Amino acid sequence: MTADKPFITRFAPSPTGELHLGHVAHALCVWRVARELNATVLIRMEDHDRTRCRLEYERSILADLDWLGFMPDPVSRASLESSPSAFRQSDHPERYADAFAQLQRVTDVYGCTCTRTMMETSGPDGERRYPGTCRGMPLDREGRLVARARIPGEETLVEDLLRGPLLHQPQHDQGDVAVRDVFGQWTYQFCVVVDDMHDGVNLIVRGEDLAPSTGRQWLLARMLGRTEPFITAHHPLLYTADGRKLSKRDRSETVRAMRDKGMTAEEVIAAAERGGTQGVKGEK
Ligand SMILES: [Zn+2]
Repeated sequence: MTADKPFITRFAPSPTGELHLGHVAHALCVWRVARELNATVLIRMEDHDRTRCRLEYERSILADLDWLGFMPDPVSRASLESSPSAFRQSDHPERYADAFAQLQRVTDVYGCTCTRTMMETSGPDGERRYPGTCRGMPLDREGRLVARARIPGEETLVEDLLRGPLLHQPQHDQGDVAVRDVFGQWTYQFCVVVDDMHDGVNLIVRGEDLAPSTGRQWLLARMLGRTEPFITAHHPLLYTADGRKLSKRDRSETVRAMRDKGMTAEEVIAAAERGGTQGVKGEK
C-alpha cells in the first residue's frame, strides 16, 4: 500500500431485508476505521441475488442509515438515488460479463455439476473444499451449470488491521471459486472483487465470518488485472442468545422495529455498541 494513495472503503448491504442491529454494529466499525484512516466511505447495493433483493429494502436501508447519521461519500449516495446507479450491482450486467470474459482469457473457467455433498469437508472454517472434479468441462453442457474459475495454488498474504497478517492457501482450503450459480447469477465472491476493483476500494471492513474469503478474492482480483493491494479489517459479529449470527430473520432487532418502539438513533447506536441485547462474541 503506497502511503500517498487515499483509502477508499465501502458499506455494502444486500437489500434482502431491513437494516438490523448487526448492520449498525458493522456500520459503526466501517465509519470508525474510515475516520481513523481518513478514508472515503462509499455505499454499494449488493443486489446480485435477484430472487431475494427488493428496491423497497434498498430505500428503507438508506433511510435508516440517514436517520442513524452514517454519512457516505455524497457521490455514491446521490448515485444510489438515481437509476441506473454506478453503485447498484444489478444496473451493471456488462461490468460482470466483461470481467467474466477476462477471467476466461487467463484461467480455466468451467461448468460444474457437483453438488455440495460431492465436495470434501475440510478447510479451517468448516467450508467444503471443491476438489476440481469438473476442470476442463465446457460451460454449456446440459442445463444451467455453476461456472467455476480455477485459482492458482499459491499462498496469499493480506494485512488485516484487527487480526494481523492473513495468510491463506485458497486452493488447498477451498478450491476453485464459483463465479456464477445455477440460476445464472453472479456470486458474491465474484461481484465483490469486480466492484472493489471498479470503485478503487483498497480498505475492506467487514465481519470476521468473511475473513477466510480474503485469499481467494485476492487471487481472483489479480487474475482480473488488479495490481493495487488492499488491506482489510475483519471485526467480530453480533450473535443471538442461542449463538446464531444476527440476521434479517430476527425481526425485533431491525432498526425499523426499534424506531417504531420509539427508540432514538442514539439509543439504537448504543445498543449496537453494547453488542445488542445479547452481547458480542469476541472470536468465533
Ligand atoms: Zn464439479
